[in-house]
Amino acid sequence: MNEDGVTKVPFVDLAAQFSHIEAEVLEAITGVLERGDFILGESVDRFEHEMAEYCEAAHAVGVDSGTSALELALRACDIGPGDEVITVANTFIATVLAISHSGATPVLVDIDRDTYGIDVSQIESAISPSTRAIIPVHLYGHPVDMDPVLEIARDHQLTVIEDASQAHGARYKGKRVGALGDLGIFSLYPAKNLGAYGDAGVIVTNESSIAERLRLMRNYGSTSKYVHEFRGYNRRLDTIQASVLRVKLEYLDKWNQMRRDHAAYYIEALAALGSKVTPPRTAGYAEPVFHLFVVSVEDRDGLQRHLADRGISTLVHYPIPVHLQEAYEDLGLGPGSFPEAEDSANHIVSLPMYPELDRATIDKVVEAISDFVRP
Ligand SMILES: *Cc1c(COP(=O)(O)O)cnc(C)c1O
Repeated sequence: MNEDGVTKVPFVDLAAQFSHIEAEVLEAITGVLERGDFILGESVDRFEHEMAEYCEAAHAVGVDSGTSALELALRACDIGPGDEVITVANTFIATVLAISHSGATPVLVDIDRDTYGIDVSQIESAISPSTRAIIPVHLYGHPVDMDPVLEIARDHQLTVIEDASQAHGARYKGKRVGALGDLGIFSLYPAKNLGAYGDAGVIVTNESSIAERLRLMRNYGSTSKYVHEFRGYNRRLDTIQASVLRVKLEYLDKWNQMRRDHAAYYIEALAALGSKVTPPRTAGYAEPVFHLFVVSVEDRDGLQRHLADRGISTLVHYPIPVHLQEAYEDLGLGPGSFPEAEDSANHIVSLPMYPELDRATIDKVVEAISDFVRP
């Protein structure tokens, strides 16, 4: 409650989630403290097996963040300086930072306005003789249409690395995202659908040789203690975080279903407002996981202020497309380069979405939106 006695609506509520799993989490952490196996301990190995199985993949390799996961995935495929990697203009900046950190050059593609993901029909024209990989991002928890992406990749001999950081557990034509391409990465940042209590990430793949290389790469390039085959990194998944992730993975399907139920309830309630609010769309091939619930409205800034005045938290994912960020000035892509991404950035807003949300809260959010769009 704030000073006026109004109950605030948070954007996410990790404390509410913790209250449901507190005993299990504390027991898991205590187990690590008692064993003392803090670096690449038992929980890391177990989490990797459970995560691989969950993703219907042969292997999972835990690392220290999603950004690391993507950079190492590129490096494990020998992608670096002189190579181009295709991804999308609307994503969290880390997707593109990882490409830059590998030494490769990012090549951006506009979005498809229905799903806000990469416009698959524009990928082929972005391919050059230097292109080595495509990184489709399953943005907001909605899968990219992967079959055409995989077909383009086959035709041009490109590696496909899925950025599934917002889509843990989502399905594409019945199959889990992550291992649909050559590799997939997940951020396990606290607010993600599967989140640690600190930074963490994981890479999944069906290719044993790549998994093996990633295991060495995250651990100084060590084949055995003090024997180094190549110049690796220290990018390991922390054992305490792995123990927390094992507890949470058991709940992921249930939490994702709660998100889908909330999304359906939001969409039904918003339908009463007519065409003034465009709800998220789900493609026929997709089982999304609603990491974010993104709507589009004419006066987005006005709506955000109106909701903020009523104690309702919202965010924009993302207000500035990658090519208009100062960090990517050197791409030389000014306004007008990606019209759909640029236009959507001015109209989208993410409403509160987390498993512990309840219908009364959703009613309150929709009522506040209704007050704004039809005064
Ligand atoms: C969160 C996120 C990342 C980065 O993950 P970190 O764990 O914060 O490094 C990368 N890509 C996307 C799409 C994300 O949402």
